[in-house]
Amino acid sequence: YPADQDILRKAMLEAYQENKPLDVEYRLHWLDGKLRYIAMRGKIIENRQGNPIHMVGVCWDITHRKELEKALQEQQVSLAHVARLNAMGELASTLAHELNQPLTAITNFTNGCLLRLKNGNFRVEELVTVLEKTVAQSTRAGAIIHRMKNFIRKGELYYETIDLNSIIQETVTIMRYDPAANAVNIQLDLTSSLPKIEIDKIQIGQVVLNLLRNAIEATHQQTLTNEPYIIIKTLQQNNEICVDVIDNGPGCPADLSQQLFTPYFTTKKTGMGMGLAICRTIIEAHHGYLTLLPDSPSGGAWFRFCLPLEREINAAAKQLVD
Ligand code: ADP
Repeated sequence: YPADQDILRKAMLEAYQENKPLDVEYRLHWLDGKLRYIAMRGKIIENRQGNPIHMVGVCWDITHRKELEKALQEQQVSLAHVARLNAMGELASTLAHELNQPLTAITNFTNGCLLRLKNGNFRVEELVTVLEKTVAQSTRAGAIIHRMKNFIRKGELYYETIDLNSIIQETVTIMRYDPAANAVNIQLDLTSSLPKIEIDKIQIGQVVLNLLRNAIEATHQQTLTNEPYIIIKTLQQNNEICVDVIDNGPGCPADLSQQLFTPYFTTKKTGMGMGLAICRTIIEAHHGYLTLLPDSPSGGAWFRFCLPLEREINAAAKQLVD
């Protein structure tokens, strides 16, 4: 095969002049006209005077191996592409999902302001408070993009020592501006004097928001004879602080209890199926756990996440176990 003639010539010359073993691969046109890959290994045999007299060696057809290598290479390239696309897709849908929440809050706040302005029925202090909340939400949206990007890329968290109850209260306040939440009775059962805990405030806030949003959507799903309600509870048990989100919606079938946490699993028409998967990732990054508990007291869903009080100790213990 013309393009490979030089390769073969050079290898033979080196073997001859430098008395090196011959080891070369090249292509040639077979008798049927097809191109085949050949491997050649050989050695120059010298006479007693050290002059080359002939060469011994083998040639064999490696076309099949070459074809397999090429196919494998192509597969690896397309696999790498799929992995890249997947990572991008996940990042995009995570961001879309998380941003949905502050954007909803901003829409609700500004609509509220507009309505009051149009009616001429407002107190300036009231508008200022709502607009301040709007600013806080757009700052939050920015922080989500920034932190989510870092978190997904490098798994980074920004720890602060904080009271978990305050995050819950803040989140519920945000949700109260959502008209969908107004129809639901959200009850807080927060254990006072909980020890402060080292967590990423924004990420844990996202988890509470996701669970609460799911609970609200669940209570809207069916016509309930009872009033729709949600209970958010905090409790300390052993060396951890737990948060329960209980609703009296239709609940989740037990056989789906693990599937719910896998990315893209959704039973909703417009769902993305990322909420619980993100929640679990965030909680596990805090060395905690998120689970769906059976036998909900409300007959609906009962989600619980727990965070260790002593993160460092737990991390070290986990490493030992691993
Ligand atoms: P999405 O809300 O976009 O569907 P999630 O990951 O948040 O994504 O939830 C996955 C699925 O888990 C939901 O589609 C729903 O079937 C189920 N689920 C989550 N929370 C509840 C709940 N409180 N009650 C009943 N089912 C729930």
